[in-house]
Amino acid sequence: MSDSIKSIENATFEQIGEVLRNHQSFVLLSHVRPDGDAIGSQLALGYSLLAMGKSVRMINEDGLPENLAFMAGAERIESPPADPVDAEVAIALDTATKPRLGDAALHAASGADIWLNIDHHISNPKYGDLNLIDATSPATGQILYDLITKLDLPMPPESRDAIYVAVSTDTGSFQYPSTTAKTYQMAADLIGRGLDVGEINSKTYDDYPYRRLELMCALLNTLQRSEDGLLAHWELRDQTRIDLDLRPEDSEGLIDHIRAIRGVLLAVFFEELPDGKIRVSMRSKNRLLDVCKIAAEFGGGGHALAAGIRMKGPMEEAKERVLGAIRRRIDEVKAEL
Ligand code: AMP
Ligand code: MN
Ligand code: MN
Repeated sequence: MSDSIKSIENATFEQIGEVLRNHQSFVLLSHVRPDGDAIGSQLALGYSLLAMGKSVRMINEDGLPENLAFMAGAERIESPPADPVDAEVAIALDTATKPRLGDAALHAASGADIWLNIDHHISNPKYGDLNLIDATSPATGQILYDLITKLDLPMPPESRDAIYVAVSTDTGSFQYPSTTAKTYQMAADLIGRGLDVGEINSKTYDDYPYRRLELMCALLNTLQRSEDGLLAHWELRDQTRIDLDLRPEDSEGLIDHIRAIRGVLLAVFFEELPDGKIRVSMRSKNRLLDVCKIAAEFGGGGHALAAGIRMKGPMEEAKERVLGAIRRRIDEVKAEL
C-alpha cells in the first residue's frame, strides 16, 4: 500500500470503506477467549464482506466457544490454521492490544499487507495501519453497524443478528451506562430488518449448561467482601476447572453477580489459567474507580468500568498485588465515593 495510507491513527468510515472496496481477500480476527462482541463483530463484518463477493476467513485463537455456537453463520469461525492464509487485508476487531489476538492467529494473518484495527477500548494503542477506535461506543458491534449503514454495505441476516448479540452482550443486555439512545435506535432498526428479538435473547441468555451453575456454586464458596463492603471478589482454581470439566466460556458474565451486590463498587474475579497465568476481571460502578487504569498497572486494559489483566501467578501473589492496588485507589478517593 502507498505510504500515504500507512498509519492513519483515526481513519474515517470512508477511508475504511475504500480499503474494504478496493481489496478482494480478508482475514478477520478477534481477541483470545472471545466474547459475544468479539465473535459477533467478526460475523457482522465477515458476512457483509461475503455479501460483497469478497473472500473472507474468520479466525480466532481459541476457536468458536460453545455458548456462541448458536449464532447464525458461526460455523465459519475457525481456529488458526498452521500456515498463513491468503489475505491482503487483516482486520482486528474488539481487541485492545495486538498480542491479545494470540500468537497462532497472528501467524495465520501474517501475510496481510494492510492491518485495520476496529475497536472501542480506550486503552487501544492504535496498532493498525488504519485505526477506527471509538471509546464512546458500547461495543465494537455498534461501530460496525455505523460503518455498514453509513457506507451502505450489505447487511445480510447473519450480520444483523451478530450486531445485536455483540451489542447486547457488551452492554449487559442494554443496561450499562455505555448504552445510549443510539444503541436502542440501532436495536429498533435491527428488529425492523427482521431480527427475532425473543428468540435471539433466549439463545443468548437462557441456555446455560448445567456445569455453569456448578461453577457458580464453587465461586460462591470463595466469595469475600472487604470490611467497608466496597470490594467483593471470588476466585476459580484450575483444579475446579478440571473437576467440573469447565470450558473457558463457562465463567463469562458471572462477575456481574458480585458487581450487583448492594454497596459493592468494585468486583474482581481471579481465575487460574491452565498455563499458570492468572486472569483478572474487574468491574466498577463508579468512574472514580477506573479499573482500566488499575489494569494498566499490570499490563492489562479495557474500559473505565470493565477491564482485565492476564498476569503472572501464583494466585496468592496476583491477588495480593491487585487487591493492594485497588485498596490504594479506594483509599485515595474514598471521601468522594
Ligand atoms: P473481561 O473481564 O475479560 O470480560 O474483560 C473486560 C474488558 O477488558 C473487555 O472489554 C476486555 O476486552 C478487556 N480486557 C480483558 N483482559 C484484558 C487484557 N489482558 N488486556 C487488555 N484488555 C483486556
Ligand atoms: Mn470483547
Ligand atoms: Mn467489546
